[in-house]
Amino acid sequence: MTSYDIIIIGGGHNGLVAACYLAKAGLKTLVLERRGIVGGAAVTEEIHPGFRCSTLAHSTAPFFSQIAKDLDLARHGFEIITPAVRVLAFAREGRSICIYNETSRTIAEIEKVSAKDAKSYLEFERSFSRIGKVLAPLLAMTPPSIEKPAVGELWNLGKLGRSFRGLGKKDAYRLLRWGPMAVADLVAEWFETELLRATFAARGIFGAFAGPWSAGTSTGLLCQAAMDGHAVSPSAFVRGGMGALSDALSKTALKAGVELRTGIEVDRIEATGEKASKVILTTGEEISARAIVSNADPRTTFLKLVDPVDLDPNFLMKIRNFRAIGVSAKINLALSGLPSFTGVDGSDGNEASSKLLGRIHIGPEIDYLERAFDAAKYGDYSPAPYMDITIPSLADPAVAPTGAHVMSVYVQYAPYTLKNGHWNSRREEFADTVVNTLSDYAPNLKELIVARQVVTPLDLEETYGLSGGHIHHGEQSLDQFFTFRPILGWAQYRTPIKGLYLCGAGTHPGGGVTGRPGANAAREIIKDFKASRI
Ligand SMILES: Cc1cc2nc3c(=O)[nH]c(=O)nc-3n(C[C@H](O)[C@H](O)[C@H](O)COP(=O)(O)OP(=O)(O)OC[C@H]3O[C@@H](n4cnc5c(N)ncnc54)[C@H](O)[C@@H]3O)c2cc1C
Repeated sequence: MTSYDIIIIGGGHNGLVAACYLAKAGLKTLVLERRGIVGGAAVTEEIHPGFRCSTLAHSTAPFFSQIAKDLDLARHGFEIITPAVRVLAFAREGRSICIYNETSRTIAEIEKVSAKDAKSYLEFERSFSRIGKVLAPLLAMTPPSIEKPAVGELWNLGKLGRSFRGLGKKDAYRLLRWGPMAVADLVAEWFETELLRATFAARGIFGAFAGPWSAGTSTGLLCQAAMDGHAVSPSAFVRGGMGALSDALSKTALKAGVELRTGIEVDRIEATGEKASKVILTTGEEISARAIVSNADPRTTFLKLVDPVDLDPNFLMKIRNFRAIGVSAKINLALSGLPSFTGVDGSDGNEASSKLLGRIHIGPEIDYLERAFDAAKYGDYSPAPYMDITIPSLADPAVAPTGAHVMSVYVQYAPYTLKNGHWNSRREEFADTVVNTLSDYAPNLKELIVARQVVTPLDLEETYGLSGGHIHHGEQSLDQFFTFRPILGWAQYRTPIKGLYLCGAGTHPGGGVTGRPGANAAREIIKDFKASRI
């Protein structure tokens, strides 16, 4: 029986990031991935001959540049594409507003619909940028222990407190007040244009079992904004699709000495004398290690892989209550040409396609988003869903045949549990609803569709291993955030079983293609090895 220092269960991007850091620290590391390819939710797959698409996540959150630098990912072909456009948002009647990375271009765009909103935008963007800078260090931090904070943890919190004070009264007050608010209220304080309100609110509800009127959705917006200091999600694509990031990570891992096995599913984690000692594969093979790191989500790890007798009933109850009910689906389209979006094609074809280079937001009003959520609340998919779309072949033509395109459509809300019927029998009807809704904005879409791939929340669970189909491994709400992620008392990547760690999106700072949970977890594991605690 081969023995390792570390076994990582799951080769999602966070598992791979952790593997790279651990191997570079000299630990003999094995990664076991149940699918035939690594990457988890960060993969590129062929959806139709010649058409390659980021099957699930389509833009990084962004991926932490420090991690890319530490691991020298560029050497293995990792390249971020950042178009000038962050998002092109559509109103119902064909009007649209473009939010650019460049503030002055965005203001000029907003001025066309509201001089008042154009004036507000500058301060809105600056306030998010200042607040984002204060919150950013939280992301790279291991949440402090609540009961016995170590000196280093208190020092880090002190530093955070000092930068909070440096924010100035206005922003400090905003930060404290915004957190518990419904994101719909927050955006209404700044803007009168419904389309702008809905576009800015979207980052607060992405992947959440919540609508813009749900309390606490501003926390989602603030946490996401901490990633890059902006209220609108970035367009930060990977050349070759998201799988190219996972490929670069696996090449780096292999070079550092990591052993990577795909098509291998872990069935059980076994503990001996209250310490995790080995994994047992579905084939019956046993592999032992000094530490086991799970990149699987917390519910999978503790409710499927660990024997309940190895866990305290109180801990188990809290994990059972960890909320992870997914509301997202994905439809990937192979297209014979570029669709024309009403109001964007105009006379200048070049301008049209450059506006489509970033994300495309479909969700014209706050009430539209809330109604879309209502459907999910009552167990059905939205008849008019919120969509976040990209056309990666515009900036990266190699992913589709010449002249053809790939369209990646993230769809919300599609609840994991349907009240009527089953996802496998309602899949095509759901996809038709999405395509019909999208055709209201791009009328020639249907005639361009060569093939479509439909990924339901059930597929997210069964094929991609996401418990409950939750894209972030669990809700990112105030009660499952920072020192509460996944649960209070266990937010430091360690678990009640000695030698068993978590490193995925179910840990701080949560979901998104950032690499941060994997890097933070590796730091804590290396500390434990150095201190001979394992
Ligand atoms: C539809 C969708 C759209 C998204 N869109 C975006 C986006 O645009 N931008 C963004 O930043 N984020 C997005 N996300 C979220 C983001 O992709 C995830 O939060 C992130 O990729 C999670 O990474 P991870 O490594 O923590 O976990 P995962 O990617 O879930 O990886 C976990 C791995 O563990 C493996 N595994 C599980 N159980 C076992 C077992 N028993 N044995 C062996 N292996 C196992 C799984 O197969 C998987 O490969 C999206 C997610 C989804 C699903």
